[in-house]
Amino acid sequence: MPLLKPRSSGLCDRCAHVKHVLTPRSEFLLCERSKLDPAYPRYPRLPVLSCPGFEPAGNEEAPAGEDPDQGSKG
Ligand code: SF4
Repeated sequence: MPLLKPRSSGLCDRCAHVKHVLTPRSEFLLCERSKLDPAYPRYPRLPVLSCPGFEPAGNEEAPAGEDPDQGSKG
């Protein structure tokens, strides 16, 4: 029996504005930009290959070793 391979969502996979909605039968990608701008579909047709609203999801953290609470009062 062949295994189903997950479909690529294109840009939405890496977008800061996507929300994964899981139901017992399926999974949807909700574009949160659609809440503020009707130009964006609530559930984009996948894969999204081009989107003016794409912004990369920020997984970056503050550089290690920099502690904003660390003062140097002499
Ligand atoms: S802004 Fe575009 S790329 Fe981002 S989640 Fe919405 S449709 Fe996908």
